Amino acid sequence: MASFGKFRWISRRITTQSSAPLRICVVGSGPAGFYTAEKILKAHEKVEVDIIDRLPTPFGLVRSGVAPDHPETKIVTNQFSRVAQNERCSFFGNVCLGSSITLPELREMYNAVVLAYGAESDRSLGIPGEELAGIYAAREFVWWYNGHPDCRNLDPDLKSTDTAVIFGQGNVALDVARILLRPTAELARTDIASHALAALEESSIRKVYLVGRRGPVQAACTAKELREVLGIKDLHIHIQPADLVTTPADEIEMKNNRIRRRVYELLSKAVTPVHAPHPGRRELHFVFFRKPDKFLESNDRSGHLGGVQLEKTILKGDDELVKQVAVGTGVYEEISCGLSLKSIGYKSIAIDGLPFDSYKGIVPNIGGRVFADASKDHMQYETGLYVCGWLKRGPTGIVATNLYCAEETLACISDDIGKGVLTSNSPKPGRDGLLQLLDSRNTRVVTFDAWEKIDAEEKRRGNLKNKPREKLTTWEELLKV
Ligand code: NAP
Repeated sequence: MASFGKFRWISRRITTQSSAPLRICVVGSGPAGFYTAEKILKAHEKVEVDIIDRLPTPFGLVRSGVAPDHPETKIVTNQFSRVAQNERCSFFGNVCLGSSITLPELREMYNAVVLAYGAESDRSLGIPGEELAGIYAAREFVWWYNGHPDCRNLDPDLKSTDTAVIFGQGNVALDVARILLRPTAELARTDIASHALAALEESSIRKVYLVGRRGPVQAACTAKELREVLGIKDLHIHIQPADLVTTPADEIEMKNNRIRRRVYELLSKAVTPVHAPHPGRRELHFVFFRKPDKFLESNDRSGHLGGVQLEKTILKGDDELVKQVAVGTGVYEEISCGLSLKSIGYKSIAIDGLPFDSYKGIVPNIGGRVFADASKDHMQYETGLYVCGWLKRGPTGIVATNLYCAEETLACISDDIGKGVLTSNSPKPGRDGLLQLLDSRNTRVVTFDAWEKIDAEEKRRGNLKNKPREKLTTWEELLKV
C-alpha cells in the first residue's frame, strides 16, 4: 500500500483511544464539502472527517467553476486548505463514488456520509438540432477555460464564426459572455488554462447574443456581475428599446425585489449610443422575450450549427405571488451563428443506491437529512446519510450560500450524534478501511500532500508566465506530479 504519512500517524493514535471516534466521510471537495467538514470538526472534537473527490484536485467549483478573472472568489481555498491540514481531516482525491467505491460500501465504513458532490451535468433544451457541432453546455465551456481535465479536449471552434448565441441570462451566462468578449491581454494575467487563452487569442467572435425567454426585469443575473460585463473596454451594448418597457406586473416584481430593480436599472442605462460603425468592435446584444425554438444546420458545413430560431414570447401571470412565465406567440426569427452555449442551469447526477428526485435534480431531504421514504404518512430517513450544496438544494447561490447550507446539514448531524443514532456497536474502519479497499482496487489515491505538490508545480509554471498559476489540465499530468 502507498505511504500516507499523516494518515498512519492518526490511525495509530486512534487505536490507543478507549472509545473509537465517529468517522464521517464527505463526498465532494467543493465549497459545500469543505464548509461541512470545517463545521463538523469545529463542533465535534472527537469526530474524524475524510473528504473524497473524483478529481485529483480539491476545491470543486472554486477551481473549475469560478471564472479566472474572479481571483478574489478563490481566496476561500486558503481557508479550505487549513481544514484539510487539520489532523482530524484527510483529503483523498482521484476517488470516484460509484466506480472506485459504491455508496453502500462507503456507508458501511463510516458512521455517516455527507454527499456534497454538486451538479456535474446540465439541463437540456430538448429542441431540434441540439446535437449539432458548435453547441455546448456552458458548464463544458467553463470547465474548458478553467482547465478541468474532463473538458481539456473540448476544443470549441472560435475561428469559423463571428457570432455566439448564449441561452440564459444568469451569472454563468454572464461569465461565459465576458470570457468571450474580454480583451485577452487582461485574461492572460489570470489562471485561465493556456489552451483556452490561445484559442481566445485567435477567436473571431465579435458578437455575443445573450438570449432570455423573459424580460429585463426577470434577468437571472446579479448587479455586480452585470456591471462587470457592461464595463468591458470598448464594448458596444445593444438592447431593443421596446424590450425595456415595463408592465404593472414588472413594477410589482421590482418593488418586491431590490436585485431585480437594480439589474433592470443597469440594463436601461447600458445601451451604447449609436455612432458611426466601428469595424471590429465587439458587441454584446441582450435579447429579451425570445425562447429557443430550434438550432439550424449550417448550409456550408454539414452537421454544424449555422443559426438559431427563436420564438417571440409574452409574459403571463401577474399575480404578486406567481412568477411571470414566458409563453410563445408563434412569431419566429433567426440569428446566424456558429457557436451556441446553453446556460440554462446545471443538474446533479444520481448514483446507485441513492434516493433521487429526477424532476428537481436533487436528493430528497429535509435540512440535509436524506429521505428513504417520503410518502404522506410515512416519513423515514436514511440513517447516517446527509446532503449539502447543489445536490441538496439545486444549482443556485454563490460560494458563501454553502456556508449556511452546511450549518443546516451540521445541525442534523449534531442532532443525530446527540441522540446516539450514528454510534455503531463496533468501531467503523473509516480511512483505514477506505484506503485498504482502494488499494485492493489499484486506485491511486491523491492525498492533500500530493495536491500541494500539484499546487506548487502549477504556481511555479504560472510564475514563468506572470500568471497566478498555470493549471495542469490532463489526468496524466496531474497524476504524474
Ligand atoms: P440561473 O441563475 O438559474 O440562470 C438560468 C437561466 O437560464 C435563467 O435566465 C433562466 O431563465 C434560463 N433558462 C432556464 N431554462 C430555460 C429554458 N428552457 N429556455 C430558456 N432559458 C432557460 O443559473 P446559472 O446562471 O447556471 O447560475 C447558477 C448559480 O450560480 C446561480 O445562483 C448564480 O448566481 C451562481 N453563480 C454566481 C456567480 C457569481 O456570483 N459571480 C457566477 C456564476 C454563477 P428563467 O428565469 O426564465 O427561468
